[in-house]
Amino acid sequence: MKQKKIIIVGAGIAGLTAACYAAKNGYTVELFEMHSKCGGVCTGWNRKGYYFDGCLHWLVGAVKNKAGHSMWNELGLFKNNGAIQHTEICTMINEDNSRFVVPAYIDAFERNLLQRYPEDTAVIREFCEAVRVFTTMRIPDKPRELMKLKDIFKLMKNMKPFFPYFKRFGKSSVGEYVERFKNQELKRYLLNIIGVKEFSLLAFFIVLSYFNDGNAGWPLGGSERLATALELQCKKSGVTIDYNCKVKKIITEKRRAVGVELEKGTEKHSDIVISAADGYATIYDMLEGRFTNKKINDRYKKAKLWQPLIMISLGLTSGYEGITHADIHILDKPINIGSISVNGMWVKNYFFDASLQTGSRSVVSVFFPSSFSFWDKLSKNRDAYKREKDKIKMDIVNYLETRYPGIKAKIKVVDIATPITTFRYTGNRQGSFEGWLLTPENFAKQYKKTLPGLKNFYMTGQWVQPGGGVSAVAKCSRDLVQILCRKDKKEFKAQESYDYKR
Ligand SMILES: Cc1cc2nc3c(=O)[nH]c(=O)nc-3n(C[C@H](O)[C@H](O)[C@H](O)COP(=O)(O)OP(=O)(O)OC[C@H]3O[C@@H](n4cnc5c(N)ncnc54)[C@H](O)[C@@H]3O)c2cc1C
Repeated sequence: MKQKKIIIVGAGIAGLTAACYAAKNGYTVELFEMHSKCGGVCTGWNRKGYYFDGCLHWLVGAVKNKAGHSMWNELGLFKNNGAIQHTEICTMINEDNSRFVVPAYIDAFERNLLQRYPEDTAVIREFCEAVRVFTTMRIPDKPRELMKLKDIFKLMKNMKPFFPYFKRFGKSSVGEYVERFKNQELKRYLLNIIGVKEFSLLAFFIVLSYFNDGNAGWPLGGSERLATALELQCKKSGVTIDYNCKVKKIITEKRRAVGVELEKGTEKHSDIVISAADGYATIYDMLEGRFTNKKINDRYKKAKLWQPLIMISLGLTSGYEGITHADIHILDKPINIGSISVNGMWVKNYFFDASLQTGSRSVVSVFFPSSFSFWDKLSKNRDAYKREKDKIKMDIVNYLETRYPGIKAKIKVVDIATPITTFRYTGNRQGSFEGWLLTPENFAKQYKKTLPGLKNFYMTGQWVQPGGGVSAVAKCSRDLVQILCRKDKKEFKAQESYDYKR
């Protein structure tokens, strides 16, 4: 029988993963990527001899025998432990430079909080117990779309320990929950771990449970290396990847997707089309809004996105010991960085991964959220855009010098990426770095991978998997290929393959 051909739009983690599994399952796969490299938002870049990582803080599943690891093994990554587990999630730094270390392990986390905030003992215990309970949660291997009644019963049985938590906290956000603490400092610390009030409380428990389980590690070599390792697996599996090829349109005939039209004007045909690109661009530009409904339209009009980030990366001539892998600066009053009012920021020191450094040099990065509309307007005037970026670079260097004396003299390279950079390189709506914000409303939801009235077309990635995240979008693509195999009456194959090597 002739192999079916699949065209995939977008070589981010979701597109690469879908391509890899599809090729391993006997499909002919062609992947179109508008950028000159793979990875999408999971990326890094080289500037004047320094590697600046633009994405990962932590990755689920990089460690042997932990949840999510078998998927990475099937994809040929992390055969042996390929990640560094930090014993601290982060260090909170107050304006007076006092510090509070947030341990990754929940017992230590609880001990520290109880010692410091005895007035909140009952709520601290309740909170930490919830994190412990969620440590045992496992994501089912089978996609929801393929579950039969017996799978649903099994799932319900496995989920039983979590039902009381779903019932009690399912509608709560982190912002609402922290109001139960009496101590203001504790409230602020817990809010700043994720940094978004609207974030789902249940999702927060799960994130902390990954840290507790030692399953939220930094993949050695960083984000770019992870993406290029996946790219290599795709190529070894026979996937064709075409870079600098922006898809302009998804071609449809009689309500079936039959291929794509590239911006260059060429048409490419296939039996199935998968979009792993930005959701809005897929539905409203590539498909001209012809296959949608009220629910989808409302979501794209109203649902909250992760706010885009500004990232300032610094190449230092030598190491700087006073910064941890994740310092979170909490400011009592906002400060101005360029024209932006900043309430707090992440300062990351990449000293812990020797494979990123050249000789004694090191890299520190600063991240904080910023409004897309501000940058969108500014970017229409190239000089004004450049001036603002230069001002931000200068203000950040001066700010860091007040907090980390002596750092300024070590800085050799300063690089800045704005929400416009994210949008320009990846097409993500409003420069969002992880798609839809994970709120109580969309917690544990998956949006449909198909569009109403269109056959042979599927979506994968962070626009159908609320909350995004590298492991989550990779699993979403694995699920999709299982669905395709079932439709084509094939047995889904996912055996382990190669080692994780650059
Ligand atoms: C700063 C930052 C920190 C993060 N931290 C973490 C973390 O610690 N842990 C974690 O798990 N996740 C993290 N994430 C999120 C995670 O990286 C993303 O959720 C995930 O990588 C999204 O993958 P994706 O393939 O769905 O989308 P994308 O990466 O957006 O990929 C889409 C791809 O499609 C391409 N494309 C778009 N339009 C077209 C077109 N018309 N034609 C051809 N190609 C097109 C784009 O160029 C891109 O390559 C972070 C992200 C950022 C930016």
